[in-house]
Amino acid sequence: MRKSIATVCLSGTLEEKLTAIAAAGFDGVEIFENDLLASPLSPERVRDRTAELDLTIDLFQPFRDVEAVPEDLLARTLRRAEKKFAVMERLGADLMLVCSSVSPAALDDDALAAEQLRLLAERAAAHGIRIAYEALAWGRHVNTYDHAWRIVRQADHPALGTCLDSFHILSRGSGPKGIEEIPGEKIFFLQLADAPLMAMDVLQWSRHYRCFPGQGGLDVAGLLEHVLRTGYDGPLSLEVFNDVFRQGDTARTAVDALRSLIALEEAAGRTDLPAPVVPTGFAFAELASTGLELPALLTELGFARTGRHHSKPVELWEQGDARIVLNSGLDATTGHPEPALAAIGLETPDPAASAGRARALLAPVLPRHRAVADAPLDAVAAPDSTELFFCRTEHPDHPSWTGDFRACVISPRAASAAPAGITHIDHVALTQPRYHFDEASLFYRAVLGLRPHESLELADPYGLLRSRAVSGADGSVRLALNVAQIRPGSGPSGSLWQHIALHSRDIVATARRLRERGAPLLPIPDNYYDDLEARHELDPGLHRTLRELGLLYDQDDSGTFLHLYTATVGRVFFEIVQRIDGYQGYGAANAPVRLAAQHARTR
Ligand code: MG
Ligand code: MG
Repeated sequence: MRKSIATVCLSGTLEEKLTAIAAAGFDGVEIFENDLLASPLSPERVRDRTAELDLTIDLFQPFRDVEAVPEDLLARTLRRAEKKFAVMERLGADLMLVCSSVSPAALDDDALAAEQLRLLAERAAAHGIRIAYEALAWGRHVNTYDHAWRIVRQADHPALGTCLDSFHILSRGSGPKGIEEIPGEKIFFLQLADAPLMAMDVLQWSRHYRCFPGQGGLDVAGLLEHVLRTGYDGPLSLEVFNDVFRQGDTARTAVDALRSLIALEEAAGRTDLPAPVVPTGFAFAELASTGLELPALLTELGFARTGRHHSKPVELWEQGDARIVLNSGLDATTGHPEPALAAIGLETPDPAASAGRARALLAPVLPRHRAVADAPLDAVAAPDSTELFFCRTEHPDHPSWTGDFRACVISPRAASAAPAGITHIDHVALTQPRYHFDEASLFYRAVLGLRPHESLELADPYGLLRSRAVSGADGSVRLALNVAQIRPGSGPSGSLWQHIALHSRDIVATARRLRERGAPLLPIPDNYYDDLEARHELDPGLHRTLRELGLLYDQDDSGTFLHLYTATVGRVFFEIVQRIDGYQGYGAANAPVRLAAQHARTR
């Protein structure tokens, strides 16, 4: 289906928006009148520019406060309309959005509304223009789609139809099934937006919190299915008002927007994208490593250096099934001036299919030979620029990235450094770009088929940490996506911390071992343990052990969670976790204590 977007969705000037919309791959645009009013470009120039960009102008909007007004106001409305029809002719736009009136002058009179809309449609038709009448959720007398449709039907003019807007319909809790009673050819336009579920004034909710389909809590795909059953064959068009998107990078928001429509079409059963290939585990985490701090920390954590790349300054460190790749060939020129997480290897049963899916959903594909290994690896860039490699480690049907590492002779000293009970990488926490948090959860859901969990806001001493986990159904791949909204300068790289969580089969033993070896662990204040005792009826022996070893504790409906953190090296720290009895979370309740301890150490 054709895909369109309202210019109001994006940041920037009209020219910047049109360029980004075309570059992302949209077919058309809705020109939001304010963008035109503020632009130095004449309507003719906008028409030519959109044509150059191979975009159609699908809608001009909004025209307000038309219907059911007293006679004296009607003349003024029609005069205003004629002026706008003239602008539309210069633009080459032939569909005008009229939203239901919010004016105190509007009368509660459907017959009058129909009569006046019919008159407007007649005037429009004389210019080759059609009118799409939309019910605003906060319209004065008309605020539901079925009411708007009744008026359109009553007006009965070929140049008058209705515009459906998923936000206005779903925000009011209107059942979308009734859409199927509208003939498809009378649905002149379809605007799509999602929103997080919030209890607030609907106008404020609409103006500030709309997001792209799949990023909020409304069933936009379900609504689309009803619309498509009517035979509607116009564009799918995004109309999103969002305070954060208005500040974000124009080009990447446009790509995020188009990705949401591609995923929505799939959810409504209208395309056959390659199916998601859900990753089955972490193959490795790759860290840009300068200096000796990370090798020292990995040694203290019980990792052994097991491989050296045959041609690059890259080392493989292993413990159990946890593999960490240290790359000292990445430096300031590649955006890694300090130790940082550069890439994640994801195990997938079909790396080429994973990459094909990612490409279809507009993920930036990386050159195959950037990989740590020389074995060709399919890779894409995640929204925070972390590189995601699709791997099939040591499987006979696929070249393994591990084949490019030469086994290290493990020194007797290293061999005596017994492993610390680490079994595998449990999760990886990535800091997202400030204005692209919603993009990230849609990316991981659509591209990798991971399931987004609830979005949390956690207290940081200098602001807030927004956090949302995504995971595979069996929990073998878990990512925590974070964005720190904190006072600038409140900790070096404070807003950019990343971490790798390693699972231990016996975290108490691991913690004792780390303490004996003097590993740099994050100190947890005594007050935390006093509160823990009050909140949970823990076995006194366990409580003493937690306090003694600086372990954090959490529980959910199924099980319990013990964890601890190392000090931060560059942007990265490690977490050791033990999930007991099927605990599913990430210890979010303890994040404020952890963040305070980290800020205290870095100040
Ligand atoms: Mg709308
Ligand atoms: Mg964690």
